[in-house]
Amino acid sequence: MDNLNSGSPTAGYQHQVRFQDGENIPWSPKFKPSLAELQSVLHTTESENEHYVPHPSQFEKFRGYEYVPHVEDDAYAATVPPPKFIDIVGSREKPKEEYGGNSVIKEEDAKQALLDHCRQHKCYGKSAAQEMKITNFALSSALHYKLETFTEKRTVKWELEPYRGEIVDTEEDGYPPSPWEVQIHPSAMFQRETKTAVVPFTTSIKDCFLCHGRGWTPCRLCHGHGHNKCFYCHGTGHTTKTDFNGHQLREHCNQCGGSGKDSCSKCHEDGCFKCHRCDGYKKMKQFIQIKAEFANHKSDYILERTKMPEKLGVEVQGFIIFEQTSPRVWPISQFPERELCRNSQRLCDEHNAKFQDATILMQRHQLQSVPVSQWKYEWNGGEYSFWVYGNDRKVYAPDYPQKCCWCCQIL
Ligand SMILES: [Zn+2]
Ligand SMILES: [Zn+2]
Ligand SMILES: [Zn+2]
Repeated sequence: MDNLNSGSPTAGYQHQVRFQDGENIPWSPKFKPSLAELQSVLHTTESENEHYVPHPSQFEKFRGYEYVPHVEDDAYAATVPPPKFIDIVGSREKPKEEYGGNSVIKEEDAKQALLDHCRQHKCYGKSAAQEMKITNFALSSALHYKLETFTEKRTVKWELEPYRGEIVDTEEDGYPPSPWEVQIHPSAMFQRETKTAVVPFTTSIKDCFLCHGRGWTPCRLCHGHGHNKCFYCHGTGHTTKTDFNGHQLREHCNQCGGSGKDSCSKCHEDGCFKCHRCDGYKKMKQFIQIKAEFANHKSDYILERTKMPEKLGVEVQGFIIFEQTSPRVWPISQFPERELCRNSQRLCDEHNAKFQDATILMQRHQLQSVPVSQWKYEWNGGEYSFWVYGNDRKVYAPDYPQKCCWCCQIL
């Protein structure tokens, strides 16, 4: 009876199978089987199809991994429930919230920023910016709060790969650790990344389930012969022609040169192929694979009270006045703006409740003060205003009086 179909959970299992020197050579057409061997395989096995999978009895059972489906497909990978978070936030002493200072912008700097802004816009006239008279200004700042949560999600699935003779650890060498004990570390914090690892002591080496350990599969188009009947002469080696007098003439088949055979287009006369599942190596390595997906989730909140559009504040750099990195951050609670504290609390609560199937590895939040100054000015009898915002002094000047130069007006 074939090992693969015997139904026992460890059928076909061979501990610590390692190739002897020179044995880890994959099958190739130079090890072509005899026709009798090919035919016997053709008659005893059913057609191998791409989607053929090992029988569920072929998968070992490991404590803590009983739920891993007997499917190799990524789509069926099972999510590992994340470990419970022990609330160390409550037991840790909350650090003092200290806020850094801010900067002040002078009138010349604001004018210069507006001039630079005009230069970037080819059509803007510069005289208004040069001749303007500043009548009033107001300094303020937008607050940009940013929360990031770095999570890890783990999934497990069975994986099957050709076994090429490398050293592996098997069930005999130790007990598989639980999925969250398997050591996988992100290369960097707060960055998206996917890593995979073999769960230790879950590997077994088996005869290939597709070719049953031969390394080759027979060609079903030519039934192992390496050739088929010639299509033109139907295998007879000659064709028949009728002449003017109605006489039938036998002619040599030009296509096959009279042999009646046509070499098999599928196996190129080998009668068989290298097995695509074991890549000709005859044995498969079967193990539980664990996949760790690291992801970074960001949320922003902007507090801005001038007439400048809020979204502009997210796009620029400000001065970092507070930042904290911790497995769980404490929501900001002592900042003088209550609105900001409320939103910090709201975003922290949202993040802590959001990731049900992942574990939070680290959090960080940051409060930036984005300088915003509003300038009112007169030019040519009209009154206008502009804003300068961000560390690199971006300008927002929706009513600048010289938006089009003379060339635009002609058009
Ligand atoms: Zn022919
Ligand atoms: Zn063939
Ligand atoms: Zn195979």
